[in-house]
Amino acid sequence: MTNQNAGTSPVIKLSAVTPVIKLSAVTKSFGPAQVLKGIDLHVNEGEVLTLIGASGSGKSTVLRIMSGLETSDGGEVWVNSVPLHDPRRAKEIRGHVGMVFQQFNLFPHLTALGNVTLALVKARKMSAADAKAKAMAALEHVGLTERAGNYPSQLSGGQQQRVAIARALAVEPAIMFFDEATSALDPELVGEVTGVMRNLASEGMTMVVVTHEMGFARQTADRLVFMDQGVIAEQGTPEEVFGNPRNDRTKQFLHRVL
Ligand code: ADP
Ligand code: MG
Repeated sequence: MTNQNAGTSPVIKLSAVTPVIKLSAVTKSFGPAQVLKGIDLHVNEGEVLTLIGASGSGKSTVLRIMSGLETSDGGEVWVNSVPLHDPRRAKEIRGHVGMVFQQFNLFPHLTALGNVTLALVKARKMSAADAKAKAMAALEHVGLTERAGNYPSQLSGGQQQRVAIARALAVEPAIMFFDEATSALDPELVGEVTGVMRNLASEGMTMVVVTHEMGFARQTADRLVFMDQGVIAEQGTPEEVFGNPRNDRTKQFLHRVL
């Protein structure tokens, strides 16, 4: 027998992969309410992990803990090799991840270019000229070169959200987090934003996406996590979770949203 599989042994391949994000037994309470009850999950480099689940199930809290905006109470949180569960190191990750929220949070008195440039001058202490060049590249990335000189009020919701994505991308983040990035948009504007997100995914960006867009989840997620009342009730590929949900709560949720 020849050893035709030498070098591609799955054992070797698996041990070579270090997750970019790893949560073990993560808990979080707000006052008496425990909103995360032991979350275990990992995201490998270049993967798109999508979180779905009912409102209040803990999706945003997971995202905020992964991005260093919130601290966990228990368990371990590793992001890009930084132990975020160590309070002394929790802030280290902030400048290295990008966050996009439902609200675009653009400064109304700054142009699209001004909004992206400001992020670079503040977060990266870049010179104005360097920041402007990088900001233009980021706007090009989201297809908004022509709109660089427009103020937010002169842009559609979809364009404003693409500026917000450009602002997050400009700092060259290791990971991008999206928390219901399309939920504030009119239905006809959702596609241009999910289109930008799909492009990022195909370019190999590591992404964690909370979304109610089941079409996007089905087509773009490498792995889907269904959260229910602070626990991961089910996870798998989109085919597994959509096609053959095993958990009753998942079935009910999918029945409501699909
Ligand atoms: P989701 O994003 O799935 O809707 P969240 O993570 O936002 O869920 O919230 C989970 C639970 O935690 C909810 O009951 C919410 O009210 C509560 N919660 C979230 N953030 C806070 C906070 N800062 N203070 C108090 N309760 C909070
Ligand atoms: Mg939320």
